[in-house]
Amino acid sequence: MTLVPGAQRPDTTGHYGEFGGRFVPETLFQALIDLEREYKAMADDADFQEELTALLTQYVGRPTPLYFARRLSETAGNGMRLYLKREDLCHTGAHKINNTLGQALLAKRLGKPRVIAETGAGQHGVATATACALLGLECEVFMGVEDIERQKPNVLRMQLLGAKVTPVTSGTSTLKDATNEALRDWMARVDDTHYIIGSVVGPHPFPMIVRDFQSVIGREARAQILEAEGRLPDALIACVGGGSNSLGLFHPFYDDADVKFFGVEAEGEGLHTGKHAVAIGDASSQPGVFHGSRSFVLQTDDGQIVPAHSISAGLDYPGVGPEHSFYARTGRARYMPVTDERALIGVKETCVQEGIIPALETAHALYYAVHELPKQLPPDSVVILCFSGRGDKDVQTYQRCFQK
Ligand SMILES: *Cc1c(COP(=O)(O)O)cnc(C)c1O
Repeated sequence: MTLVPGAQRPDTTGHYGEFGGRFVPETLFQALIDLEREYKAMADDADFQEELTALLTQYVGRPTPLYFARRLSETAGNGMRLYLKREDLCHTGAHKINNTLGQALLAKRLGKPRVIAETGAGQHGVATATACALLGLECEVFMGVEDIERQKPNVLRMQLLGAKVTPVTSGTSTLKDATNEALRDWMARVDDTHYIIGSVVGPHPFPMIVRDFQSVIGREARAQILEAEGRLPDALIACVGGGSNSLGLFHPFYDDADVKFFGVEAEGEGLHTGKHAVAIGDASSQPGVFHGSRSFVLQTDDGQIVPAHSISAGLDYPGVGPEHSFYARTGRARYMPVTDERALIGVKETCVQEGIIPALETAHALYYAVHELPKQLPPDSVVILCFSGRGDKDVQTYQRCFQK
């Protein structure tokens, strides 16, 4: 049994059309080949599947509900029926645990007692520290000093969970520098260390592995919507940082050509200000090589990476996974920008109309689903939104923004 039946991509060289690949130093190349082989063996192993499924059920709380949001649907109008796939109800409050648990099991199988990760907002670091505590693995998380300062509560969480948080002071002292540091550490200690990448990014096979572990979202949603509506949805929508919660929802619907995919990128303070995180959906978007693979990435004309900007730390990443670039290039998905200001409207509406405090990341998709999608879809459309995380981590930002 494979994790994702019918997955045609990536090809044997790790490419999604012209995107993807493995742009890494020689020392890591063999580790990536070994990782791919072990991953494939594990995906076909019934014992592993059983262990993962048991943990997802008993520990993470899967399947997560598919909830019909009646009041937000009324606000949207045009007869739209909006369903929320409640990843915020997963243990640790977001979809990230689906991936870290799968990869921590993979680390055990690889015989590697030590796990490293990079983190920006700290959410991936917390999800990794959680999985490592559960499975008895040593865990070290690289984090820019700038982010350590901004994300104190998550630093404390990681430490409580037994992880070592290592400050990174190079570059701008944020996520992209922490990622470089993690890659350097992995090169030095690849014999005893597995690197858990947090989204569908990085060199092959990481984008594939993370997608497969997150595809549980779409597999459940497919069965749940057939049960609730007796048919497939007209559209799927999710926010896109690196792109893992969106791809997790989209992937199992890839062959259903009538199901439209909408990815929502963070427009920050507006495309015209240059302060945004729109890697795909900007007319001037260009592919480049970043963190080990070829994909759309924010860059200057001469190919220097430009730092991203978004009110939401989880979308504040200059790149995007290669499979999304492929979806964009082939027209399978469309990528839409939503500003900080509009995301905050999405937060407020979801709080007061549904009694659910969304993560800032999720709120980007919520805004687009309620205010833009009804104009683009036929009347009475059925839409599933990946509700990627809860907003407890963002309440201080909300207080600051809503006081103004
Ligand atoms: C990290 C995060 C995201 C963005 O990551 P993707 O890989 O694009 O899913 C979105 N929502 C929440 C709640 C997150 O924690």
